[in-house]
Amino acid sequence: MPVPIIELPASPDAFADATWADIAPYYERLAEAPLDERGVEAWLGTWSRLEELVGEAGTLAMTAYTGNTADPALEANYLRFSTEIFPQLDEQQVRLARRLLELGWSRPDLEQLLTQFRTDAEIFREANVALFAELEALGAAYQKVTGGLTVEWDGERKTIPQLQPHLQSRDRAERERAFRLGAGAYLEKRDELAALFDQMYALRQQAARNAGFADFEAYVFRAKHRFDYGPEDCRRFHAAVESTVVPAVERLFADRRRRLGLDALRPWDLAVDPEQRPALKPFERTEEFVGRAQRIFATVDPELGAQFDVMADEGLLDLESREGKAPGGYCTKLPFRGRPYIFMNAVGVADDVSTLVHEAGHCFHAFLAHQQPFLWQRGTGSEAAELASMSMELLAAPHLAAPVGYYSPFDARRAQLEHLEDVLITLPHIASVDAFQSWIYTSGSGGDAAARDQAWLDIRARFERGIDWSGLEAERVARWYRQLHIFEYPFYYIEYGIAQLGALQVWRRSLADPADAVAAYKRALTVGGTRSLPEIYREAGARLIFDADGMGELVGLVEERLTALREELASLEPVEA
Ligand SMILES: [Zn+2]
Repeated sequence: MPVPIIELPASPDAFADATWADIAPYYERLAEAPLDERGVEAWLGTWSRLEELVGEAGTLAMTAYTGNTADPALEANYLRFSTEIFPQLDEQQVRLARRLLELGWSRPDLEQLLTQFRTDAEIFREANVALFAELEALGAAYQKVTGGLTVEWDGERKTIPQLQPHLQSRDRAERERAFRLGAGAYLEKRDELAALFDQMYALRQQAARNAGFADFEAYVFRAKHRFDYGPEDCRRFHAAVESTVVPAVERLFADRRRRLGLDALRPWDLAVDPEQRPALKPFERTEEFVGRAQRIFATVDPELGAQFDVMADEGLLDLESREGKAPGGYCTKLPFRGRPYIFMNAVGVADDVSTLVHEAGHCFHAFLAHQQPFLWQRGTGSEAAELASMSMELLAAPHLAAPVGYYSPFDARRAQLEHLEDVLITLPHIASVDAFQSWIYTSGSGGDAAARDQAWLDIRARFERGIDWSGLEAERVARWYRQLHIFEYPFYYIEYGIAQLGALQVWRRSLADPADAVAAYKRALTVGGTRSLPEIYREAGARLIFDADGMGELVGLVEERLTALREELASLEPVEA
């Protein structure tokens, strides 16, 4: 990097205990430094390095806290970054980006970034800052209501996630009880959650109007930098899911109903294993979990394998569930040293393997894109980010069996079968959530709680077929109140669908030529955010699919593979790995 134009600390450690007052002067100096075309690259490099330093200090505070939530000092440290420092950074970002834009300077690998900066500046309104702060508070209120939900099970209080094992039970009555209790917990809060959403709806529509847009949907496509597809493409996506995926899922459900020997498949019959086999058990200890993952990635590609080894060697994997750890899982970046970090709560189930492989895909993206010179060029929107992770799930799938991976040949096929079924079942849900939000913000009736619930039922009837919901209308409505994206990250969902279809194209290529598919995958990840979304997909050997023909081909391929896997399973006796 060129000589920095202001003096910066040598490492993020300098900001470990910093307050905003310690950091602000660096931004002041950058804002006031002379800026012309000759000095712009050095200025941008310095700003990027400053963001790396502050960002990494904040990330380290987060990983330390989520790894040990019982320590009040770690909590205070984390809260200082998340509530005091980071919100200030957003403002500085807009301020410095404006300086850059005013200069009118560009270079080819920065076009994409400058377009994003320009869009952010165009839609920014001072009046909206307070509205978005209010939306944050409402999002926290949603978390509080739904995070605290419990039900009583045989005299014991249980959280909603703790009902999951009962939904997998072989005892149908137990499954039904768990399902009704879970949906009932949300139904009890329906009026409270609907009132919260009424406020969110009004604030979002207001923010959109303030920025000169007709509705929040139009605003969001700019705010989320969706430059390469529009609401009309999403509607084509919904129609394509309806005509190609929904019938395939109906076939899956009919098959499940037959295997379970039922007259009708009810919503509590979806999580139980139709063959009533015991759950997959991929590993016992964390060393085994990591060691086999290392072999799997090395088999997919030596360079990616070496990257994962670095994470294992440098202590960048916090995988096992333990007392005091925050729930959930994530992959984050340490932008200064150019390393990713995985946090999760593994307990030895099949989902842990899927989660690790998925998050590792994000990590490979972080490693490869780090070659881009400036921080902002290394990140992408979710459509490209999830292409990296979802493709890795499919590229790693052939190596899940021992001696490389975790499973017996039989169980490896079971895991693949469950994964591919899940790919199909999830797409109609994605279409539902996206179509519903589009209706909310464009129909004119999205502020009417009863009309919203009815719209959800209509949309669900379109996309979710093959399940008997008779007499369960209220429970069916409850599902959307559970979808936190609709409350907290509006319109963030179709990205998963776009990326899954991209990943299926990477997978299709890998079936013909694995080395070629992985090479293209790596090229797409290396690009980072320096190119448009269709160009990133093209590097990976894929395209953005919104059409029924493209989607139908991929659905057909998945169904073929599912049939082959079922035949292979029928011919294999289950044996221990
Ligand atoms: Zn992901």
